[in-house]
Amino acid sequence: MDLLEHQGKAYFARFAIPVSTGGVATNVTDAVAAAEQAGYPAVVKAQVHVGGRGKAGGVRLAADRVEAEAAATAILGMSIKGHVVQAVLVERATDIAEEYYASFTLDRAAKLHLGMLSAEGGIDIEQVALDTPDAIARLHVDPVDGLSRELCQAWVRRAGLAPQAVAGTVDLLLALYRCFVEGDGDLVEVNPLVLTTGGRVLALDAKVTLDDNAAFRHPEWQEYEGTQELDERERLARQKGLQYIGLDGSVGIIANGAGLAMSTLDVVNQAGGRPANFLDIGGGASAAVMANALEVINTDENVRAIFVNVFGGITRGEEVANGIVEAMGRVELASPLVVRLDGTNAAEGRAILARHESDRLVSRATMLDAARTAVELAGGGKE
Ligand code: GDP
Ligand code: MN
Repeated sequence: MDLLEHQGKAYFARFAIPVSTGGVATNVTDAVAAAEQAGYPAVVKAQVHVGGRGKAGGVRLAADRVEAEAAATAILGMSIKGHVVQAVLVERATDIAEEYYASFTLDRAAKLHLGMLSAEGGIDIEQVALDTPDAIARLHVDPVDGLSRELCQAWVRRAGLAPQAVAGTVDLLLALYRCFVEGDGDLVEVNPLVLTTGGRVLALDAKVTLDDNAAFRHPEWQEYEGTQELDERERLARQKGLQYIGLDGSVGIIANGAGLAMSTLDVVNQAGGRPANFLDIGGGASAAVMANALEVINTDENVRAIFVNVFGGITRGEEVANGIVEAMGRVELASPLVVRLDGTNAAEGRAILARHESDRLVSRATMLDAARTAVELAGGGKE
C-alpha cells in the first residue's frame, strides 16, 4: 500500500523523523487558507501516488495569496501520469541549501535491508543511478543486527554530504530505519532530504510503501484505505474476493493456484503474447467463481482472448468444465475463451468442453498449445 506524501510525513513524524509540515486541502479556498496559515513563501504540492510531481508542474512556490490561489487552481484537478490530483499539501516553503536522497528497502537477492544515500538528491535519482552509480552510497543492513549509530555514521561520511549536514542526517537515518522496520515499510524514501539554510536536516518529501502482509498488526492503517487508488478491474476483483492483479497485455488469464497462474504468465510470454492480468481463483473452480473471474476480465478493454488454465485436483475436471460452460451462459464475453484442462477427470471435462466447442470456446490439451492459441486469437505476438 502506497501512502500520499502528507500521510508519509505523518508516518515519519511518529518515529520522530523531522519533516516539513503543512495543511491538506481538497479545494482552492481551503488551500489558500492553508497558505495564509503557513505563511509566505508557501509551497503547494499535488498529493498523488506517483513521483515526478515537480517536473509535471505539481509543485509550485507561491509568494503571496494571489500566487497561492493560482497554484492551487492549477494543481487541483490536473492529471499527473494519469493520476488526477484530488488534494494538495500546502507548506511554508523551506529555504534549501542542499538536496539529498535517502531510502531503505529490501534487497531480496542479498536477503538484507538496503539503505541508499546520495548527495545528489532532488532530481531524478534513477538517472543518477544510471549515469553515476558511485554517487549513491549503499549500505546493507542485516535485519538481525540492525543499524548501529557507528555503522550509520560511517555510511553518512561515505556519502560526501556537507559537513554541517552529517549529524542531523545520522539521526534522521536512524529514525528512518526504525520507521522502515517497526513501521513495516517495503520502502521508505526521502527525496529530497534537505539541509536548510538554517542548518536543519529534514524530510521535504516522503514516499512510503507499507507491507500489506503486515496489515494485521497495524489496525491504524485502515485510515489509508480511502485514498488507495485501485483501477476499476482491481476494485471489482476485490469486491468479488478474487486474487487479481491488473497488467497491461491483451491475454486475460484465469488459473487455479498462484503457482499455476504465474506459470501461465510465463507461458503466454513464451508464446509471444502479453498477459492482461494475474488471476488466481484458488482451489475451487465452481460456475460462480468462474463467472466472477470472467466478469472481471471482461471489463478490461485491452483483453482480446482469455486463457483459462485449470489443473483439477480435488475439483474434478467435469465440474470445472460445467462451471466454465455455465459461466459463459451468465456473462456475455467480449473475447474468445481458450481452455486447458488437466488433472483429475480431465478426459471427462474435455468431453464436456468438446460438446460446446465453437469459435468462442476452444479447448487445448497442453498449456503451451493453449497459450499459443490464446496469443493468436489475441492478435498475435508483441507489438
Ligand atoms: P516530486 O517531484 O514528486 O518528488 O516532489 P518533491 O516534493 O520532491 O518536490 C520537487 C522539488 O520541488 C524538490 O526537489 C525541491 O527542489 C522543490 N521543492 C519542494 N518543496 C520545496 C520547498 O519547500 N522549498 C523550495 N525552495 N523548494 C521546494
Ligand atoms: Mn520527491
